[in-house]
Amino acid sequence: MILSKQKPWEEILGYLNGESSVFLLGCKGCAQASGTGGPEQVEEMKSKLEEAGKKITGSSVIDFLCEKALVKSRLRNKIEQIKAADSILVMTCGVGVQATAASVNKVCHPACDTVNLGGSRGEWMGSERCMECGECLLEYTGGICPLTTCTKGLINGQCGGASQGKCELDPEKDCGWELIYKRLKSLNQLDKLRRFIPPKDYSKMMPEVKIMSTPLWALERTDEKGRP
Ligand code: SF4
Ligand code: SF4
Repeated sequence: MILSKQKPWEEILGYLNGESSVFLLGCKGCAQASGTGGPEQVEEMKSKLEEAGKKITGSSVIDFLCEKALVKSRLRNKIEQIKAADSILVMTCGVGVQATAASVNKVCHPACDTVNLGGSRGEWMGSERCMECGECLLEYTGGICPLTTCTKGLINGQCGGASQGKCELDPEKDCGWELIYKRLKSLNQLDKLRRFIPPKDYSKMMPEVKIMSTPLWALERTDEKGRP
């Protein structure tokens, strides 16, 4: 399971600054289990955003937002609601936000931070990866994780070594920051590159103490042979 926690309300509202309408997207997988993006949380978010003066054009809670084929097929009958919104607020882990941003041509705001739960993790078919940094940056990078897509994990732009779109450390691999640049350009959001992202506080990767005393934590920390 991938554990997520909801971002502070002020941060979420800040992402929506300058926008009047939003489509809400939740996940019935790990996000529902984390209490961050299931039907209940999506309804709560809808009420809070409406109180804050935002128009909710529609919402959907999909079985697994990390599965792009599922995202595309489930959102097919929501196209008009999505078109009517300025953006999508995606209430799930970093993988789900990336899979959504890769599937829908719309600004996708992350509503959650993904935290480390120790042990093994479920596997997914897609290429999106999250290293559970606890402080999600997808808002500033067009929904592409700089920590996992850039070979050096750079968070403030390209290193300058890329050649013909390929990474200087691995010519077989696309340069993560070129992908981010292209995505932001297609969303008309290149101004996001002007923002300086301060060094990350990796202590945020760890879940809160109350989580570490739960059976869930103990279960996830077993090794590949099932030993604690
Ligand atoms: S920035 Fe990347 S590693 Fe951090 S939570 Fe978001 S997707 Fe995961
Ligand atoms: S070439 Fe691109 S992907 Fe490779 S380390 Fe530099 S910025 Fe990151």
